[in-house]
Amino acid sequence: MNEQELRAEIVAVAQAIDRAGFCPSKSGNVSARFAGGLLITPSGLPYARTRPEDLIHLSLDGAVLSGARKPSSEWPFHVAIYRARPEAQAIVHTHSPRATALSCTRRGIPAFHYMIALCGGADVRCAEYATFGTPELAENAVKALEGRKAVLLANHGVIALGGSLAGAHQIVAEVENLAGQYLDILAAGLEPAILDGEEMERVAARFAGYGKVG
Ligand code: 13P
Ligand code: ZN
Repeated sequence: MNEQELRAEIVAVAQAIDRAGFCPSKSGNVSARFAGGLLITPSGLPYARTRPEDLIHLSLDGAVLSGARKPSSEWPFHVAIYRARPEAQAIVHTHSPRATALSCTRRGIPAFHYMIALCGGADVRCAEYATFGTPELAENAVKALEGRKAVLLANHGVIALGGSLAGAHQIVAEVENLAGQYLDILAAGLEPAILDGEEMERVAARFAGYGKVG
């Protein structure tokens, strides 16, 4: 994929999460690894008006390499995740409603459904609270993401990382779905049965071959 195609795909994912209702009040942001650094959405610009040329090229130190706009205020966690996770090619952050509601309880999502395995392990953790846009939030997110592809941010939202923009997008949407189901169970006054670690390993092994030819 060339630079223009990558820029267009970042904008397409940003507009898709917005249309899905995952970004109230222009929250959230999207990035992808590019040329030793990353391309990231601008801060505060409504997605419907965002064009590929509005993206900012940052180094992995957070320095602006090109772009006239201000980068997302969450550039510290985007940079910190790419530094800590060599396999991450793309990051999607949202304030999707049900996952954000759950994040306000400061609870993660346990393995109440096998699809949790899509998020890289046997649960989705909730990172410790820190103010948005700070290095502390970046540090807390990286810590809670260890061995995982998704994390809830306390009193804030969700981050998903992927080997591609499509992968990160799929995970952020699945976290919203799972958080909603988990909240529905809790709201019914019920406790879900939790799948054990061995079962989640079996699920992960099946996922490894799922959807592949042969
Ligand atoms: P930006 O518009 O600066 O990316 O911020 C949105 C957000 O979700 C902050 O956490
Ligand atoms: Zn946010």
